[in-house]
Amino acid sequence: MTRQPIAALPDALVSQIAAGEVIERPAAVVRELLDNALDAGARRVVVRLNGGGARLIRVEDDGCGIPREQLGLALQRHATSKISSLNDLEAVASMGFRGEALAAIASVAELSLISCTHESGEAFSLDAASGEWVAAARETGTTVEVRELFFAVPARRKFLKSDATELAHCVEVVRRHALARPGVAFEVWHEGKLAEQFRAAPARQRMQDVLGDAFAESAIALQFDAGPVQISGWVGTPDVARARADMQYAYVNGRYVREKVSTHAMRQAYADVLRGHRQPSYLLYMQVDPQRVDVNVHPTKIEVRFRESREIHQAVLHATRQALAAPRAGSVEVVAPSLFKPTPVDLNPWTQSRMQLASEEVADNLVREGPHWQRFSAPSQAESAQAIANLQAIWQPALQSQPEIEEATPDWPLGRALAQLHGIYILAQNALGLVIVDMHAAHERIVYEGLKAQMHANAGKPSVQNLLIPVTFAATPQEVATAQSFEAALLQLGIDVSAFSAKTLAVRAVPATLAGGDAVALARAVLAELASHGVGHSLELAQHALLSTMACHGAVRANRVLSVPEMNALLRQMEVTERSDQCNHGRPTWRQLSVKELDSLFMRGR
Ligand code: ADP
Ligand code: MG
Repeated sequence: MTRQPIAALPDALVSQIAAGEVIERPAAVVRELLDNALDAGARRVVVRLNGGGARLIRVEDDGCGIPREQLGLALQRHATSKISSLNDLEAVASMGFRGEALAAIASVAELSLISCTHESGEAFSLDAASGEWVAAARETGTTVEVRELFFAVPARRKFLKSDATELAHCVEVVRRHALARPGVAFEVWHEGKLAEQFRAAPARQRMQDVLGDAFAESAIALQFDAGPVQISGWVGTPDVARARADMQYAYVNGRYVREKVSTHAMRQAYADVLRGHRQPSYLLYMQVDPQRVDVNVHPTKIEVRFRESREIHQAVLHATRQALAAPRAGSVEVVAPSLFKPTPVDLNPWTQSRMQLASEEVADNLVREGPHWQRFSAPSQAESAQAIANLQAIWQPALQSQPEIEEATPDWPLGRALAQLHGIYILAQNALGLVIVDMHAAHERIVYEGLKAQMHANAGKPSVQNLLIPVTFAATPQEVATAQSFEAALLQLGIDVSAFSAKTLAVRAVPATLAGGDAVALARAVLAELASHGVGHSLELAQHALLSTMACHGAVRANRVLSVPEMNALLRQMEVTERSDQCNHGRPTWRQLSVKELDSLFMRGR
C-alpha cells in the first residue's frame, strides 16, 4: 500500500476534530495501536502484554512501516498521514484520522517505535522521551512498545483493575478488531503465554472462532442491500439470547461502534421473538457510503452519526426481521435447537425440492382452505368434539384421495406425526430422526401470526364477529374501569366489551378468528393485560402484546387430545409460519433429536 506522508493538520481542521482524553486504560492503547496497524495494511498483528498491559504493551505489525524521517512526526500531536483536508475528514475510510493517539500515549507512558518500510529496507527505532532515532533490526512493518502506563500519573494508575481484568479488556479489543478483519491474523500473548489467537480465515470461520460454536451453530446469515446501505453479518436465534447485552457486535464500514440506531432496530427486530429481558446476540456489518456517516463525533470514535439514520434503521430492521422470520425447519443446516450437538443435514437435491414442493403445497392448502388454526380455536370441552369432527371432515377426503401422502413423504421438515406425549408434546419422525414439538407453544405462535397477518391485511383491524347474544359476566371494578378507559383500543383489537351495569361487563363482539372460543375468558385476559401494561407509546407493539395474549388464549391447550391428522396439520402450519421456531414468549417450539443422538443415548454402534 502506498502511504501519504505524515503532516501536521491545519489549525482550522484541528478545531473541527472531536478532542478528548482517549487513553483511560491499557485496552485503549491496544485499540489505538491495532487501528494504526490495520490502517497500515497489516496482515498479521501480534500483541504482547505484561501486567495486564499496564507494564508492557507491544504491538507488532507487518504493515507498510514509517519512513525514518517521519518517525518524529508520528509522535507529534495532530500530525497524520490519513487526512489532510476537511473533504478527507468527511469521507474518511481509515480507522485513525486525528493524529493524536501516539502523542497521547507518549504523554502517559514510555513509548518507542521501531519501523521499517519496504522501500528503505532499513529499520530504525525512535524513543519518544529522547526523540533520538537509532538503527535497529526488523522486517517491514512497525513495532510500538508502550511501557509503564500512567507511571507519572498515579491518580490514573490507581483506577486500573487487576491484571486479569485489564487483560480481559485488552483481549476484548482484539476480538472486536478480529471480527472487523477476518483476513488479518491476530495473536495476544500475556506474560509470555499465548492468550488468544485468530488465524486469517473466511468471515464465517472468523465469526465462529471469535464468538464460539454455540453462536455459530445458531447463527442466521444476514444479507441485505438497500442501495446506499448494505447489511451483512449473523444474528443469533432466540435460543442463544443472553442475560446481558455482551454479544452484540456492530460495525460501520469496518469500525466497531456502539450507536443507538442499529441497537434500536435490533431490539425492535427481536421484539416479537424475545420476551422479558433477554438480550439478542448478533454480529452486524453495516456498509454505508463514508459521506453519509460522521465518525468524528466522539474522541474514541465508538459513536458515529448517520446522515440518514432512518435508512440505516429500516435496513437493519428489515434484514434482521427477514432472517429471523423464516421457519428454520428444513433449512439445509439444522440450526434449530438440538438437545445435544446440532447435526448438519446433508439433504440431497431431490429431498430439498420435495421439501420446497411440500411447503408450497401446504401454503396452497392454507390459501384454499383458510387458516387451519381456526380449527384449533375451540378450547372448551363442548366444542372440541365438534372441532375434531370438522377437522376430520376436511382432512378425510384429502387423505383418502391421496392415501400414499402420509407414508410416502417422510421428508417434511418437521416430519410426520407419530403420537402425542402426556398431552403436551407431539412426537414426529423426519429424515433426521425424532422431532419433539411443544404443541401449545407452537400453536400459540401460529395463532398469533395469523391474527397479526389478518390485522395487517385489514388495515390494522381484525375482522370482527358480532355475537348474536352478548355474553355478560360479573366483573371487578378494575375490569370495568379498564374496559371504559381502553374502549377505543379494545375496538381496534376487535373486542367490543362495555359496561352492562356497574358490576357487569358485556362482550358483544370478538375477533372472528377467536369466535369459537370462550369470549369471557378472552375479554378478561385482554383486560388484565391492558390494566397492567396499558397501550404504552407504541400502538403496534401494544397491539402485538395483546394479540399475543389473545393467541395464548386461543391456542390449543395442554391435555387436549389431538388426532394424528390434527398433529400433522399443526406441523405443516409450523413449516410455513414465520417465527414458528419460537413461541410468543421466546421459548423454542420444537427440538430435533437425530438418530445419531438417539443411538448415542443407547451406546449403539460403538
Ligand atoms: P492517526 O492514526 O489518527 O493518524 P496516530 O497518532 O495514531 O494518528 O498515528 C500518527 C501517524 O503515525 C499515522 O497517521 C501514521 O502515518 C503513523 N503510524 C502510526 N502507527 C503506524 C503503524 N503501525 N504503521 C505505519 N504507520 C503508523
Ligand atoms: Mg491512530
